[in-house]
Amino acid sequence: MDAKAPVLLTGIIGEKDDDCACPDKAFLLAFDQESGGIDSDCACPDRAFSFACESVLQTNFVCTPHTHTQPLLQGFRLAFSPYAPAGPSVLDPAAWERWQSFSQPQPLSQEIDRRLAAQALLQPVGDHHHPQYLNPETLTAWLHVTNACNLDCPYCYVRKSSERMSEATGLKAIEQIFYTARRHHFQRVKLKYAGGEATLHFKLVRQLHQAALALAEESCLALREVVLSNGYHIRAEDADWLAESGVKLMISLDGVGEAHNRQRPLKGGGDTFDQVEKTVDQVLLPRGIRPDITITLTRLNASGAAAAVRWALERDLPVSLNFYRQNILSASRAELELEEQAIIGGMLAAYNEFEAILPTRPFFNGLLDRVQAEAHAHTCGVQHSYLVLTHQGKLAQCQMHLDSPVSHSLAGDLLPMVATGPIQNISVDDKDGCRACEFRYRCSGGCPLETYRATGRWDVQSPHCHIYKTLLPAALRLEGLRLLKAHRYI
Ligand code: SF4
Ligand code: SF4
Repeated sequence: MDAKAPVLLTGIIGEKDDDCACPDKAFLLAFDQESGGIDSDCACPDRAFSFACESVLQTNFVCTPHTHTQPLLQGFRLAFSPYAPAGPSVLDPAAWERWQSFSQPQPLSQEIDRRLAAQALLQPVGDHHHPQYLNPETLTAWLHVTNACNLDCPYCYVRKSSERMSEATGLKAIEQIFYTARRHHFQRVKLKYAGGEATLHFKLVRQLHQAALALAEESCLALREVVLSNGYHIRAEDADWLAESGVKLMISLDGVGEAHNRQRPLKGGGDTFDQVEKTVDQVLLPRGIRPDITITLTRLNASGAAAAVRWALERDLPVSLNFYRQNILSASRAELELEEQAIIGGMLAAYNEFEAILPTRPFFNGLLDRVQAEAHAHTCGVQHSYLVLTHQGKLAQCQMHLDSPVSHSLAGDLLPMVATGPIQNISVDDKDGCRACEFRYRCSGGCPLETYRATGRWDVQSPHCHIYKTLLPAALRLEGLRLLKAHRYI
């Protein structure tokens, strides 16, 4: 490679596991075929650019307006177009200078120009980027294998009982999930074994895994699975099975020591942090199991987020920071409500921990609640690619709506029933206050349920907009630093 060639770094962003359903790769961004001269039939913007090279050369380009920029280290700068297909780009001084030169319209004449355009940092004169919506590829299903839990967290949205999913209900659920996936031409199925505490019904998890494997093979569908757990007690034999089967594990951890104990006590009272730590250090890590750590931030534990992040990163565990969402069971707990300054301060302190350790594997998608680096228009998969199946064999739109199913049985195609349910997961392009936001295709307006609870509307920006807008530049900066470290510039 030419040592003097301008440097532009971009990254692939990792997937995360938490309670919610990730939006799928929702769209690609390409120039309008008629006015921009670039073919938009391709599956990704990079291919669109190389395919239409001739016409690109005949078109003048300028810097994409509303691109977010900030200085990084050693002369490198971060540039992030609202329309970037994935995370931000990092430009060295030569690449930055070249990009700046597009304040005057000119054709793409150098290799770096095409790379800048592929990151949507340039756009044709007289045109702008147009999202091209793609069908989601992953059908995600929450399987509520038990309604029981050994913990009693004050923010939990599950009205718990000792009831559990029967084998017959579980197998029927798996069958209908795969039927739905085939019918709608999904390419993969992702199962989240959840509750309650899913590990209390591990026998069913194993049975459902076997059934899902067989159906995935028969249907030529890829399969991903994750067990969502509080990590309080995972038996050695179950950990062995996780390691052998490749089924992932996600553990909720809300702080270190007292911060966790206060927010995640045992049913009937009692501390849980030491036991969770023992599970991770003595049961999981020795078997090579690296659980995703998910931290739920409330006003109570925000100041302890940094310690929890350090705890996870010291063990090289993926970590995600998520916001508490008020629900009908927690409405009276005012001490949990998000307080902007407390959350922002706690999150920035947590980001300092990321910067201090700076993992080189992608971690952006875990930094800020539902924010995702990949361009997408819907906050989550609700209505489009997400099913919640209760332990009683009912169908709901979201795990926070377990008590408000859209169907009382599991038959036929499940998707139309969740698509027409009460939760409206609309495109960020249709949300007041979001349409012109530079971060709209990352934030997508936040959790629809949380917005509706706070405003009575589905079509407006998140009540946590100020938190998102304050923290997003800091999160992008971390991704820029990560890219520099991964490419050995720092
Ligand atoms: S909620 Fe705020 S940060 Fe998010 S897309 Fe809307 S305006 Fe932008
Ligand atoms: S509606 Fe909110 S809580 Fe439900 S899956 Fe979507 S983001 Fe998560």
